[in-house]
Amino acid sequence: MQNTVRTRYAPSPTGYMHIGNAKAALNEYLTAKSQGGAFLLRIEDTDQKREIAGAVDVIYKTLEILGIKHDEGPDIGGGCGPYVQSERNAKGIYIDAALELVQKGKAYYCFCSRERLETLVREGTQDAVSYDRHCLGLPERDIDERIAAGEPYVIRQIIPEGKTTFTDEIFGAITVNNSELDDQVLIKSDGFPTYNFANVVDDNAMMITHVVRGTEYLSSTPKYNLLYEAFDWKIPKYIHVPMILNEEGKKYSKRSGAPSIEDMVNEGYLPEAIINFIALLGWSPADNREFFTLKELEEHFSISGLSKSPSVVDMRKLQWMNAEYFKRMDFERFYAMSAPIIENALSGAKLSFDTHKLAQAVQSRVTFLNEVPEMLDFLPALPNYDITLYENKKQKTDVSIALSALEKSIQALTGIPAAGWQNDRLYAALQNLAAENGLKNSQILWPVRIALSGKLSTPVGATELLELLGKDESLVRITTGIESLRKGNAS
Ligand code: GLU
Repeated sequence: MQNTVRTRYAPSPTGYMHIGNAKAALNEYLTAKSQGGAFLLRIEDTDQKREIAGAVDVIYKTLEILGIKHDEGPDIGGGCGPYVQSERNAKGIYIDAALELVQKGKAYYCFCSRERLETLVREGTQDAVSYDRHCLGLPERDIDERIAAGEPYVIRQIIPEGKTTFTDEIFGAITVNNSELDDQVLIKSDGFPTYNFANVVDDNAMMITHVVRGTEYLSSTPKYNLLYEAFDWKIPKYIHVPMILNEEGKKYSKRSGAPSIEDMVNEGYLPEAIINFIALLGWSPADNREFFTLKELEEHFSISGLSKSPSVVDMRKLQWMNAEYFKRMDFERFYAMSAPIIENALSGAKLSFDTHKLAQAVQSRVTFLNEVPEMLDFLPALPNYDITLYENKKQKTDVSIALSALEKSIQALTGIPAAGWQNDRLYAALQNLAAENGLKNSQILWPVRIALSGKLSTPVGATELLELLGKDESLVRITTGIESLRKGNAS
């Protein structure tokens, strides 16, 4: 039990979780799971001014979408909830810890009013961060009377003289002069602990062994250390990970336009693609492998692969990954996801189509499922199209080659019975036709595909389209193509 790795994701609820926040959770989760440890969830909501309704649900929901499960927490009836600091505060956990330090002579009551502190700053006697210890050494009786009289107070830590050194697993040993540190407030005048204090008290109470967080916390870490020392508690391992930036090089944040994970999933990103993508932000696997499920990450993750420099969220890479995840998806699952969209896109069509075949046709081409209706829009009815679509240098076709190709094709295709109207046979027929006429395959297939779809890009090639549309409809569409090419040529 003693050596078990224990980590926590400790979000301050903001009502929003984007890739950067999910990355923080994933780092903590993988640090624990890769070492057979426990992962905890702790809501750091001690800043009552910033309380946002529903914010905890957002955290819960997002972690659930991503499949990141926490291991323990208070019983909430039928499961374990997260640890919530406001609830722990109500139990007196933080004030008791602060009073322990007062008793040890390592913290003190401070009754200075906001006005006094502001005057200190204004008069330039103090800078904005350091308190002049005006209340250090107040007689005990004085303190008791002022508290009994209801005077507001805070509790501050006495920062000792000297230097503080801490070791970060990524950045190595860092030393600061304690003179740069303020007698930090532990308990605020509203009775709530400060963020820094509650964080340390809880990391100790929850026996956290590894603290993984952003480099923005590096500068506060000496203060955390001094708290551990004041209590005589064991200091956890610190792992500060560099920032995540957006494509403009700014901090990835809601303010700079980062979408929430929930919105991304609603837009069509697959949770497993998101997890894979964020795992690779600022972390390189030993073998440069690119695809990982969450389970595989649990096996392969190691702190040593974490980078020292910031990483950039490249949305195109995520889109590519999303498409890859669709391609690699088990067909049954893809079918279950795409069939309703396909059926809806084709509802009202006079022809009937094989949803199964269509799902197979689009599976390897989608980045998002909402592209499917547009991919299939030519199926219910042939759209109007311009005959310039038949011109394609790369495929070596132009309108006159296309016209003769379609005229020849229709003859060849008419001879194939409806019962034999299958891709293989159709392909062989058109290939023969090309060979017999000294044409490249593309000089037949390109015009046929345009005639069948009226579009430059289709989810499948000419002969698969022939099969999907069936013999009658295919011949009608090719005839339409021939007619428009003839008209076009005549004009
Ligand atoms: N509550 C802090 C945050 O939301 C957590 C920092 C930490 O992990 O210690 O950033």
